[in-house]
Amino acid sequence: MPFDLVLRSGRIAGRDHELVDIGVRDGRVAAIGPRLETGPDSGRDIALDGRLVIPGFVETHIHLDKSCISDRCTCRTGTLQEAIESVAAAKRAFTEDDIYARGRRTLEKAIVQGTTRMRTHVEVDPRIGLKGFHAVRRLKRDFAWAVEIEICVFPQEGLLNDPGCDELLVEACENGADLIGGCPYTDSDPHGQIARIFDLAKRYDFDIDFHLDFDLDPSWMHLDEVCRQAERRGWGGRVAIGHVTKLSALDHAALETVGRKLAHAGVALTVLPSTDLFLMGRGAVHSVPRGVAPAHRLLDHGVICSLATNNVLNPFTPFGDCSLLRMANLYANVAQLGQPDQIQACLEMVTSHPAKLMNLADYGIAVGNPADIVALDCTDSASAVAELAQPLLAMKRGRMSFSRPKASINWPAV
Ligand SMILES: [Zn+2]
Repeated sequence: MPFDLVLRSGRIAGRDHELVDIGVRDGRVAAIGPRLETGPDSGRDIALDGRLVIPGFVETHIHLDKSCISDRCTCRTGTLQEAIESVAAAKRAFTEDDIYARGRRTLEKAIVQGTTRMRTHVEVDPRIGLKGFHAVRRLKRDFAWAVEIEICVFPQEGLLNDPGCDELLVEACENGADLIGGCPYTDSDPHGQIARIFDLAKRYDFDIDFHLDFDLDPSWMHLDEVCRQAERRGWGGRVAIGHVTKLSALDHAALETVGRKLAHAGVALTVLPSTDLFLMGRGAVHSVPRGVAPAHRLLDHGVICSLATNNVLNPFTPFGDCSLLRMANLYANVAQLGQPDQIQACLEMVTSHPAKLMNLADYGIAVGNPADIVALDCTDSASAVAELAQPLLAMKRGRMSFSRPKASINWPAV
């Protein structure tokens, strides 16, 4: 059988030492081997020249609906509270088309950074109603050719304290949401919210993704209640928690205990390095704490950990190019990880680990899987992160979704 196209001489991340060809047919990986034979009817060859290929970056936590609004918000203290209030005020002027346009700009950034799968959190409450949800549902449909998007609806400003919010969440769950999230720290009854989110997840057979424990006080945690509920309700493997910056304030023994607890309960962790660095420790004027949960230490306990973008160009994070490779590099730098195997683990936290967090059954460059393939301008996994290797092309289900030429230096004539 001929191939539609063959990627020649690439290195698959995790098997960096061998050069392989990847044959693609009908949008799927049809063969992987050292030198694939192709007949006269085969399509074109794409030369990778020994470069690293990955199945695309997996974004587990991004807010498309409130991205790209830095120019609408004025912030002075840089605290989490100010960010929430500032976005809540700006949100009142959002329209569905406005959300769509900003989400589109953000998605276009993500595509050229090599992201092929994404979970986006979408705010639902009586002020914004379902405008964000409807806009992101359109984005999910319109960008499916490049990025598969999961929609996680959640109450950013509280649930039990916000009459009408529950009904809207239910409406979204019944009309295209893929999973449900929570944000107990903004609720008047955090444990009540956690219980309600688990109730809704059970009713709709949804995974759960909480914003959680987003401060630096280690004396208490909602994490304990989330783990307790995950175990009690048999929801292990279907629950993720994001931020959990409190973990950065734990001593070694306490962190070990949390690691064992998360692994046992089947609760995964997403760290949002850019936001967490920006918002945490605002009370300090010197020796500012980093406030980034030490995910790499939890990997040793078998906890599934991802690194993700969170916010792009808004009061939570006034930066952002949607590069998950940059997020891995930032994390490695902040966490002081310099050994090749440590840096490689950071690449796994933006590829294979988030794929596990999202329970993606068909992720990976393997025969039979969708031909989601991103080529990076490097030849090994550690270099990808250490040198921020430029993504050169991405393929989604066998179709090229973007490509850029490798930079060339114009030396002067001699
Ligand atoms: Zn978030």
